[in-house]
Amino acid sequence: MVLIVALSILTAMIAFINALVVAQIVQKDQLIARSLEANRAYAAKLAETVDLYVESIQRQLEVSASRLPAMLASQEALDAEALRVAKQSDGVVAAFVADSANRIIAFESLAPELTEKPAELSRVEIDQREVAGHVSAAYLSAKGFPTVLFSEPVRDAKGEYLGLVGAAIFLKRDNELDRLISVHFHHDGSYVYVVDSHGKILVHRDKSRIGTSESGNVVVDAVGRGEAGAMAVTNTRGKRFFAGYAPMRSGNWGVVVQTPEDVILEPQQDLLWRSLLYSVPAAVLTLLLIYVLARWIAQPLSRLAQAMLLRGDEGRAALQGVSPWYFEAQQLREAVGVTLAQHQRQITELNTETLTDPMTRLLNRRGVEDEVERLKASRQPFAVLALDIDHFKRVNDTFGHAAGDKVLIVLGDLMRASIRAGDLPCRVGGEEFLVLMPAGDVGIARRVAERIRSTVERTDMPEGVGRITISIGVARWPEDSGDTDAVMKFADQALYGAKNAGRNRVVVYPF
Ligand code: GH3
Ligand code: MG
Ligand code: MG
Repeated sequence: MVLIVALSILTAMIAFINALVVAQIVQKDQLIARSLEANRAYAAKLAETVDLYVESIQRQLEVSASRLPAMLASQEALDAEALRVAKQSDGVVAAFVADSANRIIAFESLAPELTEKPAELSRVEIDQREVAGHVSAAYLSAKGFPTVLFSEPVRDAKGEYLGLVGAAIFLKRDNELDRLISVHFHHDGSYVYVVDSHGKILVHRDKSRIGTSESGNVVVDAVGRGEAGAMAVTNTRGKRFFAGYAPMRSGNWGVVVQTPEDVILEPQQDLLWRSLLYSVPAAVLTLLLIYVLARWIAQPLSRLAQAMLLRGDEGRAALQGVSPWYFEAQQLREAVGVTLAQHQRQITELNTETLTDPMTRLLNRRGVEDEVERLKASRQPFAVLALDIDHFKRVNDTFGHAAGDKVLIVLGDLMRASIRAGDLPCRVGGEEFLVLMPAGDVGIARRVAERIRSTVERTDMPEGVGRITISIGVARWPEDSGDTDAVMKFADQALYGAKNAGRNRVVVYPF
């Protein structure tokens, strides 16, 4: 019973925990896949947005480059054009015009930290001066500001290089790139950064990292190769992120959106607790059900076991009382029933054998003792008739022992025939017999004794033995004594009284 319940509950618990663990694994995979996809899509969208912005600056520079050849003669016009370019695009802090000898001929700054006009183009600027639609990598300006420069060459009608118009963004200042990226800032600890073609950070919420190199970072390297996608990365501090990335058309830049693993998996803790909470009632119900079912299954078995321990009729009744509801237990009950019945039969046979005299089939001395106990217990008054064949030795001597045995058998039959149902004839010794008779009245006892005696006297015995006689002594319980042993002894005394008085007679105690 306990075993069945324990096993069932253990099985249910394993299934329950397994379901939880599997759900957790599936959830984790889903959360990660969803986050990677979201970051990939975000990066692509941001790259597109920043591209549009960069391209708008480039177009304005193209327009300016086409107007500038006509203005080269007028310093006033050049200054006005520089101011117009600086003001036209959000985020641009400075604009300038350089001549073909790399001298800065017009300069306008909107930034208070940069008011002084540089004398000529820097090395970096000179290298790229004739590239149309040029977008620089991040570099430190002559004054030490991390800068991105957009520039467009100015050419005459024949295509001769006349100079350069440029617009600059200071990365550490609030700028348009910053604003575009910040708009899309997540609140959950995710962050976005933009890198240039050398893996240097152009935009980052942590301004101190602007201008620092991230080359070596697998995501930054991938975006540097012009790839888009998403992957899990571990940063130099051992922290895991799920990053989406997309390259940009302008200047070989790239956008990276990344979310820390713990932020992504945070909902899982909550989900675990919620699943536990929701499944607790179901689990308790299941366990209860298992307990009830297990009891239901085990009960007929334990009742069968108890029934088997009972004896005789009690056991049979207990067995009948068990009504198993399933086939196997019914089978078991049948088997137990058959076994018990066989057992009972064997015991009855053994009892009959030990309590019966095999020759006459009358009760033997042990049978008499049991019967006396039973009568005494039921407070039923009874008479004892003690019988003995007169001069039986002579029968044996004259006709042989075998003939004597036949006489004993016939005498048993005569006794049985002369008494009523309920009276018990017994053989307690060689040729000594007894009748136990439930009877309160001494007259009835005497009459039955007399009937046996006279029947024997008138019957021819087999083997040519002819007629024999018997003597009978009668005593009664509880009239003569409350002690049954004493009553037996009194019946014997009455029998000897009959022998002494000449045999072939009935004597009732006391005489
Ligand atoms: P009485 O009782 O009248 O005094 O004389 P009796 O000859 O019957 O004397 P007693 O009772 O002393 O002798 C009993 C005899 O019964 C002795 C024995 O040979 C014989 N006897 C006892 N048991 C058996 C038996 O099982 N079969 C046969 N054939 N004879 C038996
Ligand atoms: Mg005798
Ligand atoms: Mg005798």
